[in-house]
Amino acid sequence: MEEMMMSPSFDRTIKIEADVVVVGTGPGGATVGRELAKAGRRVAFVERGRHPERVGNSLSVLKYIDRAGLVFSKEGLNVVRALATGGSTLVYTATACRPPAWLKEKYGVDITYEVNEAEEELKVGTLPDELLGPANYRLMSSANDLGYEWEPFKKFIDPKRCLPGCSDCILGCKRGAKWTAADYVAEAVGRGAILLNRVMVREAIIEDGRAVGIRGRDASNTPVEVRAQRVIISAGGMGTPAILQRSTISEAGQGFFCDPLRMVYGVPRDKGIGTASAPQMSVGTYEHQAEDGFILSPIIEPKVLFPPSVGLRNPRYLPKWINYGSILGIMVKIRDDMGGRINLDGSFSKPLTHDDHLKLDKGTRIAERILEKAGCEVNDIFYSMDRGAHPGGTARIGFVVDKDLKTRIDNLYVCDASVIPEPWGLPPVLTCIGLGKRLARHLMN
Ligand SMILES: Cc1cc2nc3c(=O)[nH]c(=O)nc-3n(C[C@H](O)[C@H](O)[C@H](O)COP(=O)(O)OP(=O)(O)OC[C@H]3O[C@@H](n4cnc5c(N)ncnc54)[C@H](O)[C@@H]3O)c2cc1C
Repeated sequence: MEEMMMSPSFDRTIKIEADVVVVGTGPGGATVGRELAKAGRRVAFVERGRHPERVGNSLSVLKYIDRAGLVFSKEGLNVVRALATGGSTLVYTATACRPPAWLKEKYGVDITYEVNEAEEELKVGTLPDELLGPANYRLMSSANDLGYEWEPFKKFIDPKRCLPGCSDCILGCKRGAKWTAADYVAEAVGRGAILLNRVMVREAIIEDGRAVGIRGRDASNTPVEVRAQRVIISAGGMGTPAILQRSTISEAGQGFFCDPLRMVYGVPRDKGIGTASAPQMSVGTYEHQAEDGFILSPIIEPKVLFPPSVGLRNPRYLPKWINYGSILGIMVKIRDDMGGRINLDGSFSKPLTHDDHLKLDKGTRIAERILEKAGCEVNDIFYSMDRGAHPGGTARIGFVVDKDLKTRIDNLYVCDASVIPEPWGLPPVLTCIGLGKRLARHLMN
C-alpha cells in the first residue's frame, strides 16, 4: 500500500491524499472506512470531535456530548448527540435493532446479508440473567403481569466484560464491554487508515462536477484539505446536511426525525434497587411500535444530566434527585413525524406535532401503570423533558441520495442515519452498520 501524503504547504494548508475520505466516525462512517481499509484502500477519517479518553464518568459525558447536552431546536426540543471518535455510539445504550422491512420492500435497499454479518461479528445478543439486574426484572415482571409483552433486548455488549450492577453505557464504557464505532476506526487505523481529530469539515471540494475531496479547519484554525477519489459524508443526521448544503446540495436538511423520548420516573415504596444499577435499555417491548408508534424500555438519565432534565420539565421535581439510586425509569420513545429543517449555521427547527404528543402521552400512561404495579405511588410519578437522540432522514434515500447512497454529484456519497428515508422510531446503529458494509461493497465493485 502506498504511503498517504501529508504535507504542510507554504500557504499553511495541511494537505492529505487518500483513496477515500470519510467525514465523521459514527457507525455509518466507521463501518464503511473499516471495510475499505480492510480491502487495502487508503482511508482518511476526518472527525470534528476529540478522541475519547478516560470515559465512564460524569465529566466525560459532558465533555463529549454536543454543548453538554444543552442543544435545543427553535421550538425548544432538546436533541442529544456525541461529537467524538465513534460519534454517538460513545454514549449510546448499545441496543441492537434490525432494519425496518420497508427499507428493502419500498426502497430496494437490502442489507439483510450485511446486518447478519454484523450481528455475527459483534456477537449481538441478549444479556444473561445475572447482568439484567433486579430493577429490570422488577419492571419486566410488572409489565408482563399487566399483560404486556416485555423481554430482554439484543445488545452490542460483551457479557464477559460487563459488570453486574453497572449502568455506565451512557457515560462511555471503561471496560470495553460495549462495542462502539471507535472500535472499527481503531481497526481501520491498524490497517493503515489515518484519523484526523478536531477537524471541522465545511464542504466537499467539487471540480468539473465531481467530488475530489473535502475542506475544513483544525482546532488551531489551520485549513485542512483531503483529496480523494471517493468522498463519503458520515457526519450524522445533523452534521451531514450542512456539509451537503455547502456543497451545492441545497435540498439536504429539509425535514428530519429524531425519535423523541420521555423518561417516566417513580420511586417504589420499598426504595429498592433502582434503574441506575442496571444496564440501560436491556429489556422492554416493541409491541406498541407498529400500531401506536412507540417503544418502552427502562432507562434513567446519568446523575449529572438528571437534575437539568427533570428540573426543566418542572422545578418541583428537583428534590427527587435525593432518591436517585432507588428511582425506576421507563423511557417512552416514539416514531415522530418528519419535520423542521437543519440550517447552514447549525441551528435547526424541529416542532413536535399533535400526533407526536399523542404518542408520547399514550406511552406515558402505560409506563405509569407499569411503575404503579412495580410499587410506585401514582401521584409521585414524574417526568424528564422531551428530547430526541436519533437524528436522521436529512439526506434521505430517494430525495438526496440514490439507493447506492450516491448524491447527484459524482464520487460524493452519504453513509449515516441521515439517509434513512422515513421516520422509524427504533435504534438505528445496526442499520447504519449494514449500510456502511453495503456501501463499501458497492465501492469495491
Ligand atoms: C444517549 C443516546 C443513546 C442512544 N442509544 C442507542 C441505542 O441503544 N441503539 C442505537 O441503535 N442507537 C442509539 N442511539 C442513537 C445512535 O447512537 C445514533 O443514531 C448513531 O450513532 C448515528 O450514527 P451516524 O453514523 O448517523 O452518526 P453519528 O454517530 O452522529 O456520528 C457522526 C460523527 O460525525 C462527526 N461530525 C459531525 N459534523 C462534522 C463535521 N462538520 N466535520 C467532521 N466531523 C463531523 C461527529 O462529531 C460524529 O462523530 C443513541 C443516541 C444517544 C445520544
